[in-house]
Amino acid sequence: MYLPSRVPVDTTFSNTDSSIRFIANRMTPMSLPANQLLQELETVVGTAGILTGKALAGRSAGIWSGGELQALALLRPKTTAQVSAVMKLCQAAGQVVVPAGGMTGLAGGHKSTTNDIVLSTERMNRIESMDARTRTMVVEAGVILQTVQETAAQDGLMFALDLGARASCTIGGNIATNAGGVRVLRYGMMREQVLGLEVVLVDGTIVSSMFDVLKNNTGYDIRQMFLGSEGTLGIVTRAVLRLHEAPLAIETALLAVPSWDKVMELLRFFDAALPGALAAYEVLWRDHYELNTGPHSSIDPPLETDTPYYVLMDVFISDHEYGRARLEELLTTALEQDEIADGVLASSETERGRFWQIRESFEPEQDKFDLIYGYDVSLPLEAMEDYVATVRARLLERFSDAALLAYGHIGDGNLHFSIYPGAHRNRDAVDEMVYFPLQALHGSVSAEHGIGLEKKAYLKYTRSEAEIELMRKTKRMMDPDNILNPGKLFDL
Ligand SMILES: Cc1cc2nc3c(=O)[nH]c(=O)nc-3n(C[C@H](O)[C@H](O)[C@H](O)COP(=O)(O)OP(=O)(O)OC[C@H]3O[C@@H](n4cnc5c(N)ncnc54)[C@H](O)[C@@H]3O)c2cc1C
Repeated sequence: MYLPSRVPVDTTFSNTDSSIRFIANRMTPMSLPANQLLQELETVVGTAGILTGKALAGRSAGIWSGGELQALALLRPKTTAQVSAVMKLCQAAGQVVVPAGGMTGLAGGHKSTTNDIVLSTERMNRIESMDARTRTMVVEAGVILQTVQETAAQDGLMFALDLGARASCTIGGNIATNAGGVRVLRYGMMREQVLGLEVVLVDGTIVSSMFDVLKNNTGYDIRQMFLGSEGTLGIVTRAVLRLHEAPLAIETALLAVPSWDKVMELLRFFDAALPGALAAYEVLWRDHYELNTGPHSSIDPPLETDTPYYVLMDVFISDHEYGRARLEELLTTALEQDEIADGVLASSETERGRFWQIRESFEPEQDKFDLIYGYDVSLPLEAMEDYVATVRARLLERFSDAALLAYGHIGDGNLHFSIYPGAHRNRDAVDEMVYFPLQALHGSVSAEHGIGLEKKAYLKYTRSEAEIELMRKTKRMMDPDNILNPGKLFDL
């Protein structure tokens, strides 16, 4: 699994965010002196459960943001009861708490300042049980996604969520961000993978909704409130996860596609020919494919680099022989009908891994550029070709030394940009170029990464004032003192 080793630091994405500073100022003086609060917290979580001062040195602020963790203290509770006691103390003291999982989030939701208590779930990492008959797994929030996937696989089962940060991100973080990833087309987002949830509210109340059945129509869906709430409404402590039968065979194809119309046609073509089997439909624009198979990469291009689009496709199928023969037949038809310029089926697990690395690896872009702004938007597929061309043209018109790479989970209408801003480094201007056109297209400024700090200013491009006000009312009701991850998603 690849995770970036050298991370670009984006200075506009920092702890000097005005709303954060405002909250921090508002909280001083606290009703308890900081050292007294820290002593009481230590009594709750034990000496190994709290890191302050020099003990914090060297703790990373996250693989993407770089630098050291900023915090008054890092708390590492081991149980739900400890999280509850921590929240009671912090609420009484008016102390800001920032929940953190694997810190792989790409919207700045886990960002903290030196005035904040960071509550990490890293020691709540037990898989409590797995039941192959009911296809469920009960986990603590700090369990790493890949651990869940591997544990399910031991019993011939599969946890459907999968994404590039699988080796570092946690189930709690996946829930809080309602993570998407590469299998949404077939299995849905994290929202669909969670049957039950346990959450600690700001006042320390433990809300247990640990159901393990698919159907439960008993009023408001409390569980879903926390999916995508980005740590602003409560701290996820445990969950009941839904598992699926693992596919008996996975076939992976890489296709060179001559036009955007054909990218859309092929999605329908394969989905209709292999009903329910298409599990991933990723698209790489040529620049991305070229970079990730060129001199900055260790992977040679499996197909020529002269086509505008490359489709990477996973098909989950019950029989390897049949699946392969059927896909070969479909690729031949697509080739004969000029739907694709070329195509190749992965012949081994190693080759499959290489194809996926072309899609998922960020190393080549980090090698080539010293700074990248990442984007994650969604919009109707019919509008995507023009949208990408327009953003690219506007970017280069204003910053001639900039570069744009486009790729994404296109089967879900989810497009990512990696933008090198050029020497000007004007994040606001680039953000506006990317987000503004989405309003007219009924697109979303965040398809799967969330809003966090990074996209707060643009939430209004996707959500109406009435929707945002309802979110604010919910936040005020559940966190009247605004101490839980304040300033994320929106300002109050
Ligand atoms: C290489 C790479 C690829 C990625 N690919 C994808 C992708 O395909 N799809 C996708 O959706 N995302 C992707 N991401 C983003 C990221 O991995 C996800 O957002 C992930 O769900 C974050 O989990 P985490 O444990 O790292 O959470 P963190 O980054 O620690 O936190 C994220 C947010 O959740 C909150 N939070 C964390 N734990 C809890 C908890 N227990 N209770 C309440 N709030 C909590 C934090 O306060 C913060 O607001 C990728 C990231 C990287 C680095």
